[in-house]
Amino acid sequence: MSGSLPSNSTCMIPTQSRTILIIVVMTLLAATAKRFSSAFTSRSIAKPKTSRAMHVQSIPMWEGTGNNYAYLVTDDKSKEAVVIDPANPPEVLPVLNEKTESGAIKLTKIINTHHHHDHAGGNVEILKHFNLPIVGGKDCTEVTTTPDHKSQFTIGESIKVTALHTPCHTQDSICYFFEDGSERVVFTGDTLFIGGCGRFFEGNATEMHKALNETLAALPDDTKVYPGHEYTKGNVRFAKKVLDDEAIRKLDEYSQANKETQGKFTIGDEKKHNVFMRVNDKNIHDLVGQTEPVAVMKALREMKDRS
Ligand SMILES: [Zn+2]
Repeated sequence: MSGSLPSNSTCMIPTQSRTILIIVVMTLLAATAKRFSSAFTSRSIAKPKTSRAMHVQSIPMWEGTGNNYAYLVTDDKSKEAVVIDPANPPEVLPVLNEKTESGAIKLTKIINTHHHHDHAGGNVEILKHFNLPIVGGKDCTEVTTTPDHKSQFTIGESIKVTALHTPCHTQDSICYFFEDGSERVVFTGDTLFIGGCGRFFEGNATEMHKALNETLAALPDDTKVYPGHEYTKGNVRFAKKVLDDEAIRKLDEYSQANKETQGKFTIGDEKKHNVFMRVNDKNIHDLVGQTEPVAVMKALREMKDRS
């Protein structure tokens, strides 16, 4: 008997309270059952994790002066690889030689984002060591193929590349959107930087507005951005003069604590912390005295060029 209630104990609780007690107990039991069942269901229907095959290796070049990046992108399944903007062969060739000789990669292409010497200027020297086609803008040295806007090609078994024409910094500027299952990255050359954009050497504000706020802004927000230079600290210095904003403060903190920022931010982040992608922001309109997006883009670029 000890530990159990007397059989008539329930009779001591008034009927109304008993009903309430039963409802409370039933509700608790139902909630517990639901928790168990949803935990079980979510486990049982969880999809197997997509195995990623795209590997991006940054190769910093001219550190301390140009602060450029070349990138080696490998399809891990087939080992097929491409090198993007290998402009300084003394810094890039040792990586390519080591990886090809060890069998870690099969190099199949050079890809150029635009014709400037600090992006396409290494092509001739690289070709002395590797027999490769060059995919790039029409003015790139030794270019083999210039892909049409939105045309696609594949690397190995898993990586799908879409060429996106983004003329302005140069007329032959092309950004390359790489997809491997759920992993998405974009190589933006000197068109989009983390927190900034390239100078309008061969184009105008209409073209840069289209490149950033139509073409690149249309990519999925989770696309990681790999630009042609590490310019983030300078870009944040300028952005802070334009806006005092939570997103810009976060980028400032990150760039102060980290030497490299490539691949750490997405198109979605850029829409928040990149003033050139916030041409519809009322606060920026007030600062530059313009409201029309192309006029705002032009005013921001002129301010940055003077800063
Ligand atoms: Zn350039």
